[in-house]
Amino acid sequence: MNYSLPEFLAHAIALEHEAAERYLELADMMEAHRNDAVSALFRDMVHYSRLHHDSIVERARTVALPQLRQFRWSLPPEAGGDEAFDYKIDAYSALRYARENELRAMDYYTEVGLHSTESEVKRLASEFAAEESEHVDALDDWLVRTPRPSATWQSDPDRPTPA
Ligand code: ZN
Repeated sequence: MNYSLPEFLAHAIALEHEAAERYLELADMMEAHRNDAVSALFRDMVHYSRLHHDSIVERARTVALPQLRQFRWSLPPEAGGDEAFDYKIDAYSALRYARENELRAMDYYTEVGLHSTESEVKRLASEFAAEESEHVDALDDWLVRTPRPSATWQSDPDRPTPA
């Protein structure tokens, strides 16, 4: 992962865009559950991901960015297909899912920071890794306060099987 600056900026923009989209979905899901507190948390995450996205776009204004494959969040392993995102996901599972992807983003930026030979890429990547680590901490705070569902989401017999 020895990225040039344009490659790195393009990846980071895609990553933050994906985070904002997924958090928006999660916020809507929590609203459907009438879990306003967790929904508000996810809307804050949408806001921060967009701010971060926009600041990277601004940083990349004078840089010719390469075309990229889309950066996708991993789906919960139980979800199966791409579109089978379950609206019955509970707050605890939603927080776990978000945490897993924040951790992935943090590891990604950390790896890039370690392996890049360009000082500007190194600097930005370690800055972004620190930011992701704050997101992981924020989700951890919520996880300790969120009751773990007794019947887990995966084993819920009422859960419709994905088509
Ligand atoms: Zn994040």
